[in-house]
Amino acid sequence: MSHVGKEDEDVRVIVRCRPLTRSEADRNCRSVVQVMEDQGLIEIRNSTTNAERQVFKFDTVYGCYSNQEDIYEKSVRPVVSSVLEGFNGTIFAYGQTGSGKTYTMEGDISDKGVVPRSFEHMFDCITSSCNTRYLVQASFLEIYQDEIKDLLDPHNGNQLVVREKPKIGVEVYGISSCLCNSKEDLERVLAAGIFSRSTGATKINERSSRSHAILTVTVEMDNGSPQSGQVIRVGKLNLVDLAGSERQSKSGAVGKRLREAARINLSLSALGNVISALVEGRQHVPYRDSKLTHLLKDSLGGNAKTLMIANIGPASYNYFESLNTLQYASRAK
Ligand code: ADP
Ligand code: MG
Repeated sequence: MSHVGKEDEDVRVIVRCRPLTRSEADRNCRSVVQVMEDQGLIEIRNSTTNAERQVFKFDTVYGCYSNQEDIYEKSVRPVVSSVLEGFNGTIFAYGQTGSGKTYTMEGDISDKGVVPRSFEHMFDCITSSCNTRYLVQASFLEIYQDEIKDLLDPHNGNQLVVREKPKIGVEVYGISSCLCNSKEDLERVLAAGIFSRSTGATKINERSSRSHAILTVTVEMDNGSPQSGQVIRVGKLNLVDLAGSERQSKSGAVGKRLREAARINLSLSALGNVISALVEGRQHVPYRDSKLTHLLKDSLGGNAKTLMIANIGPASYNYFESLNTLQYASRAK
């Protein structure tokens, strides 16, 4: 069982268990996960011993019948709302490859995920407000092998470096950003980034399972009146589809693959360390331990709101990875 976090939590960890996929059902895979949404409990049992059961408790858990709208309305909307008030926010999708990270973030045509819903939410709010002027910009990058790649300009020749500036916060120097005047503009940014991820040297599945994709939407709000002078607030929303959490170093990888695997495991454990330091209210938060956490430093902790969506698959062959994800998530909670 995980410990209780501080009150008024700005770091939330929720768990989503996807349904068995069609091909898993066709192969007669058995589900070893039981979700009790009303109690916030998830039970996972070891299918080989069948006796060993573990129960985890979270604020919110979503079972295989949960839908994208539930997740947005209940768990995501508050984060995006606070960005529209001038705070920073970060939403992570964590889990092994195939657990539903991209489905949760992007969704499909028939059921949109977190990212397109947040675009809609933002522009609904922007178009209905009459006395605030908004400036919305987006950038989209990938961290692959600890290097930052600009997904909106794959040929960007700048040296992309993370730097911290007083007052402004953390920025990636040299990255391109796109001015967005509508949710359709943001959707085009998303599509462009997905396209550049798929056309790299490595095949999409391989690459996307080994890299973190971070789409950042920056919202500047100007509600200055002539009397009070200009009041500009800035909120930043980071939407992060993390690298697959599977233990890559165990899979017989050697050389470059092994180094790559070590880096992924390192950045995911650095993220877990940052989140647990924040939840426990520790003085020192080890942001600088990875590029991922360094880049998100001003959007994790402080006034920022963080939501980690831990995704798991229910099938027995996913048992060990799902258990690992539940342990990671409950440590971060
Ligand atoms: P990941 O990004 O973690 O590798 P995907 O999002 O690609 O995983 O999901 C793997 C497969 O499972 C895809 O075919 C996806 O459509 C399906 N899937 C994932 N989550 C759900 C869900 N909640 N409901 C229905 N299908 C899902
Ligand atoms: Mg994916």
